[in-house]
Amino acid sequence: MLNRRKFLKTAGAAIPITGTLSPLVRASTLSAEASPGPAPDLVALPPRMAAIDPDTEPWQQRIRRVGQSNMTEHDPAVMNIEEWAEYWHSAKADIVFVSVTGILAFYPSKVRFHRHGKFLNGRDFFGECVAAAKKRNMRVVARMSPDLNWGDALEAHPEWAMRNQDGSVQFSDEEPRLFNTCMFTSYMDEYVPAIMREVNSLYDVDCFYTNGWPPLGSLPECYCAICSKLPRSGTPAYWRVFDDRVFELWQKYDGIAKEKKPDSFFFANLGGNVRGGPNLSRLGKIAAWFQADNQGRTYEDPAIWGCSLQGRVCNAVMGGKFAANVTAAYSTGAITWRNASKNPAEAEMWLNETLAGGMVPYYHFVGSENGFGEDRRWQKVGSDYFGWTAHHDAHLTTRRSIANIGVILGQSTQLLYPGPSTTRSREYMHETIQGMYDALLRGRFAFDFVHEDRLDHEHLSKYRALLLPNIAMLSDHQCNQIRDYVRSGGSLMASFETGLYDENLIPRTDFALADVFGIHQAGAVIGTVGNAYYGRIDRQHGIIEGFNNTNWLPGAQNRVPLKPVQNPVLTVVPGFVRYPPELAYPPISQTDEPAVVLREVGSSRVAYFSGDIERSYWLTGHGDLLRLLHNTIRWITGNEQIVQVEGEGFIEMIAWETAVGYAVHVLNYTNPNAHHAWMQSVYPLGPQTVRMKLPPSARVRSVELLRGGQSLRFNVESEVLQFTIPHVDDYEVAAVTVA
Ligand SMILES: [Zn+2]
Repeated sequence: MLNRRKFLKTAGAAIPITGTLSPLVRASTLSAEASPGPAPDLVALPPRMAAIDPDTEPWQQRIRRVGQSNMTEHDPAVMNIEEWAEYWHSAKADIVFVSVTGILAFYPSKVRFHRHGKFLNGRDFFGECVAAAKKRNMRVVARMSPDLNWGDALEAHPEWAMRNQDGSVQFSDEEPRLFNTCMFTSYMDEYVPAIMREVNSLYDVDCFYTNGWPPLGSLPECYCAICSKLPRSGTPAYWRVFDDRVFELWQKYDGIAKEKKPDSFFFANLGGNVRGGPNLSRLGKIAAWFQADNQGRTYEDPAIWGCSLQGRVCNAVMGGKFAANVTAAYSTGAITWRNASKNPAEAEMWLNETLAGGMVPYYHFVGSENGFGEDRRWQKVGSDYFGWTAHHDAHLTTRRSIANIGVILGQSTQLLYPGPSTTRSREYMHETIQGMYDALLRGRFAFDFVHEDRLDHEHLSKYRALLLPNIAMLSDHQCNQIRDYVRSGGSLMASFETGLYDENLIPRTDFALADVFGIHQAGAVIGTVGNAYYGRIDRQHGIIEGFNNTNWLPGAQNRVPLKPVQNPVLTVVPGFVRYPPELAYPPISQTDEPAVVLREVGSSRVAYFSGDIERSYWLTGHGDLLRLLHNTIRWITGNEQIVQVEGEGFIEMIAWETAVGYAVHVLNYTNPNAHHAWMQSVYPLGPQTVRMKLPPSARVRSVELLRGGQSLRFNVESEVLQFTIPHVDDYEVAAVTVA
């Protein structure tokens, strides 16, 4: 982040002064987002957690590195098993994935319709890989894929297929000989268990995993005989049935895994970020391993922080249990090359985010042509990175996040809410959460996601404030929990349609939290087409700080009209014509419709924006909206911070309590490719000063930079630990060891 003095220096040096535009005017206009605001009030970290005896933990909690060469049908003909095993072993992988599959058998399976790969030739390829891994003390995940099968299975079991509305079979988009299997049929109850039991009878594997199921980020749409009797896909009622089925199968498969040995388990593809698929809170309670199959940036989701965002989702539902995020070493994206390495800077940033997000790095490539790959460039990137982490496992193993702000993760709104009546779009909530996330990063706030089904006192008590970015769907129960939170002194910031729908997506006649925010709906959502609406500044307030020389601010694209309130801070100037410019003036320039409503009761402060302010910020990048969000977050939190990282640049900061102390992770997103295409190179940042107020019992022994490989001088005064990271390349971890 450019501070003002630095900006003036840079601007003076770089921009020729012409005409009447002085550098001073440019600086005050352009550095809006750089305003750091008043000095924060550092609050103390909580007392440290009790130590854990590692011997009492399940084995997967000690897994620190995961490797996978995803096996192709051709691999039994070409892959050098010794070279494969030696690579992952020398890269210090604790566990490797080996393919059993379900689409193609990698061993001489006797299960009917488990087709042998055409290069298998009766060989026990799976068994040889398991033996090579075990010989090197690596554990093995038996990887299955229950999502597709072939024509002979379809002929014998037409009921296994997913069907279109006209009754036709749903086939794979890429390989039409494969049909999509329906998760509600006996395919999942009989075929998949038969393979698991066969593997159990033949091999010593440590756990089972299914790829390709359950679906991520969207719900299946099937019209087979069973599904036709279920509620319509995409509805809250369907989501519950879908969840029940996922839960039932998950427990069934877990039970089969445990038939072999009690510490084995089953896990499946999760990930999908805030949108998830199955209810993540419910699955988080039974899952031994959260597999975030979130392998790289996509065209639809191009922001660089996709992996760390996923980490915050895992943290919201796993309660410290094992989570791993897959980094594709191959080329992901709109155009893919599944068998060619991607830019090292991009792969490394995804691995950085995995660690910063509290997950275990998992490195993945597809196919082993020509022994161990035609393209082997990914291998050194992975083994160097894994090798570095292996020196620092103690600091990279997280206990709990350090955060004083909770962002409610409204999974049902993400999955089921279609956007407001004015803007129906599947991307609507994605844009909303990205706007909130971007604003939080730029403000360097310490925040967690909090799942909507975990709003009890135990989960909320650590937060000074909760943010509800258009959490449209809220049940009465959830609203009561939020009410309790405010009553006990917590603060809130919410926007737009928050609480205007119940958990079944039934619209309410007024806001469910009308009493808490002091607001009442005055009509249906109003969108804008030309000039979006404005907020007129009616009086000064902390949230308006820094706005000078203007009577109004940008509002948002859409808003819920509100009934008037006493003493509004911002009132709505309704949207009007943008073109032609002759008509670009407000026919109504003053109303009594509030654009924001603020309340203070005891230590609790609540703020409600009637517009979709976070999404409008995401779509425009408007610095006024960013400042308004920052000011409001500072106001509701009483400007309290729990960890402070001060310096230039666009970073993501995530801090953790670790077994040995604390770790402050700094990810450098100051990069022309932060929002589009892959990282090509790194643009280093200057000094970052970290401050944390330690609990009285903690004595700092050392502060080390894990990437920079150096010890830092530090200062502790009145329990405030302060040190400066001299520079950050792509990533730095400041590891604090306490006695
Ligand atoms: Zn079906």
